[in-house]
Amino acid sequence: MKFHLLTIFPEFFEGPFKHGVVARGAQFGALELIVHDLRKWTHDLHRTVDDRPFGGGEGMLLKPQPIFEAVEAIWPEKTARQKVILLSAQGRRFTQQVAREYLDAEELLFICGRYEGVDERVAEHLADDEISIGDYVLSGGELAAAVVIDSVARLLPGVLGNADSAVNESFEDGILDCPQWTRPAEFRDWKVPEVLLGGNHAEIRKWRRQAAIEKTARLRPDLSPQK
Ligand code: SAM
Repeated sequence: MKFHLLTIFPEFFEGPFKHGVVARGAQFGALELIVHDLRKWTHDLHRTVDDRPFGGGEGMLLKPQPIFEAVEAIWPEKTARQKVILLSAQGRRFTQQVAREYLDAEELLFICGRYEGVDERVAEHLADDEISIGDYVLSGGELAAAVVIDSVARLLPGVLGNADSAVNESFEDGILDCPQWTRPAEFRDWKVPEVLLGGNHAEIRKWRRQAAIEKTARLRPDLSPQK
């Protein structure tokens, strides 16, 4: 899958994508990351990307013109499997299910907002999806785009070492993953549950399922197991 990032801070992505799963996926050709500097599509000396909001109010907004021209230059003949995603605190909530929806796309292009946000015509007439990573306000869409890309990348075939890793994780069947422990079996008087030490795999599976349900009820009562 190809991920495009449209940003006024291209250097931001040197950090998040340099290590771990995304870097490995890029190395093995399962994904490609292309960072585009939004200022490339400005036409004035100062390479202006922002302007004041109509009606007054705080701060500046990203102008529509460079953003529309950038997307049109990147995808002159956009297909149904090329999706434009606007990162926005006002968007629909990003979840594991949305990450799986994105797997149907061949290419995703993320518009990273800044300042007080983005001219609404981008959401209305250019973006296929307007996505929020949670109910809080970030300073820019770059962090949010990195979060979305990381979670989609780990679902791509061949990116995780073990293909089962992604299907046994939190949210995949509606609830949280089960709690887990590693050695030592006893640490500062806290013991690992006995059943996990016994090697009875059927018992362990049953115990883990119950532990996952209990942890979900305790910490995320809004979630419930899928039938
Ligand atoms: N004035 C906007 C509002 O209150 O909805 C917030 C703008 S925010 C300071 C600047 C940019 O950060 C946004 O355009 C968006 O791209 C990004 N952003 C902020 N919070 C986000 C969130 N929860 N999810 C995704 N992107 C977010």
